Amino acid sequence: MKPNLIAGEWRTTQDAQANINPSDTNDIIDHYALSTLQDVEDAVQAAHVAASSWGKSTPQQRFDLLDKIGTEILARKDELGNLLAREEGKTLPEGIGEATRAGHIFKFFAGEALRPSGEKMASVRPGIEVEITREPIGTVGIITPWNFPIAIPAWKIAPALAYGNTIVFKPAELVPGCAWALADIIHQSGVPKGVFNLVMGKGTVVGKALVAHPDVAGISFTGSIQTGKDIVTACAAFQKKVQLEMGGKNPLVILDDADLDTAVACAVNGAFFSTGQRCTASSRLIVSEGIHDRFVEAMVNKLAALKVDDARMPGVEMGPVVDEAQLAKDLHYIQQAVREGARLAFGGQTFERKTPGFFLAPTLFVETTNEMTINREEVFGPVASVIRVKDYEEALFVANDTPFGLSSGICTTSLKHAHHFKNHAKAGMVMVNLPTAGVDYHVPFGGTKASSYGAREQGSHAKEFYTIVKTTYIFAG
Ligand code: ADP
Repeated sequence: MKPNLIAGEWRTTQDAQANINPSDTNDIIDHYALSTLQDVEDAVQAAHVAASSWGKSTPQQRFDLLDKIGTEILARKDELGNLLAREEGKTLPEGIGEATRAGHIFKFFAGEALRPSGEKMASVRPGIEVEITREPIGTVGIITPWNFPIAIPAWKIAPALAYGNTIVFKPAELVPGCAWALADIIHQSGVPKGVFNLVMGKGTVVGKALVAHPDVAGISFTGSIQTGKDIVTACAAFQKKVQLEMGGKNPLVILDDADLDTAVACAVNGAFFSTGQRCTASSRLIVSEGIHDRFVEAMVNKLAALKVDDARMPGVEMGPVVDEAQLAKDLHYIQQAVREGARLAFGGQTFERKTPGFFLAPTLFVETTNEMTINREEVFGPVASVIRVKDYEEALFVANDTPFGLSSGICTTSLKHAHHFKNHAKAGMVMVNLPTAGVDYHVPFGGTKASSYGAREQGSHAKEFYTIVKTTYIFAG
């Protein structure tokens, strides 16, 4: 059994959970600790005790730790990427890419630890100086989803450490492998006892207890909308800082003047890479009349040629769905779309490969309306739908007509439309001639409306969540 990390010690639990490869359900990767409330309590206490000394550690100490972690991740990116592809089902190149990104994130936040933050200004009163500084918030609970098993933990853990916080990390039940490997790297890199704790197990046990614990000063969460809503309500009651990243129903607008190859490449990448299991996935393809038929035909041809198989097999372009429950959910949405009148242009069915896995064909609906369930709710699978529109104005209206606001894209060669879209898309991130998914690691990430809540993640903006501002007045006499 792979154990928890609590107060600098590896600690096993009575119960364990199996980590199953979604490309081959006969392949059990390992068994991982299934924590109790006592484990959470011990981890929070360890983090709480360590908070004052880590909060006062020097920028150099934090830089050295984060830099070492980043170096180790990058040195082991192939092995970590392989584990990621094996436990989550994204393709090997995507897995290695994600591990590389995690390494870069630690390197970026190593630098952040050294960057000065603070201001000194004159008071409005004579003889007084004012200092505005940032302090760590204390112990943070980090709760992550299964779709980015190493990058999302990295983009929460690295800033938490860089800005002087201690951590209790609770990874998603489906992907404890990468979380454990990351914890091992952090431990081996010499993190002081109690500064970083790993507690694996159920959201309803571990996650819930972290949210409710009075010694946890903040929660950074990425996951489903309902869980996010429950967490924000609970955090408000405890006056806890909270940061949520949840779903998306991201539009990709394709205008008549778009370059067809660019548009198809953006749509295939945005909707189907990582098996469509990205909160930034391009799930609504909003296509204007003049290019509609050519676009659909080109998409169908591309999807027919897309190689779907075991995530780690060379040349595979799309791996399986993450597990049986997610597959059932995807199929449910597909059936509902058909019932509501959407026309299946490609896919819609599961299929078998050499190994028993959760393989679903990339699925494209056409003749859909923005009111259909398939265009209102997040599927989180390899399913996209085309919405035909008259012109740019209608496209923009439909793009914004959603409860979500994470990422919004447009494919066009018109500077006028690109510029207008950039300014009027109601989303936290806008992409021009790019898929809605695929972001840099050194700039802010986050959305508007139901997609996000609280301060932005990543880049220097991450400090908004992981620090609290202190204002000091000094009377010099
Ligand atoms: P998904 O449906 O994608 O698994 P969830 O929101 O259920 O999304 O899970 C995201 C993360 O939140 C996981 O680590 C999960 O264990 C955790 N989680 C689930 N329920 C709760 C809860 N009630 N309180 C805190 N964390 C939870």
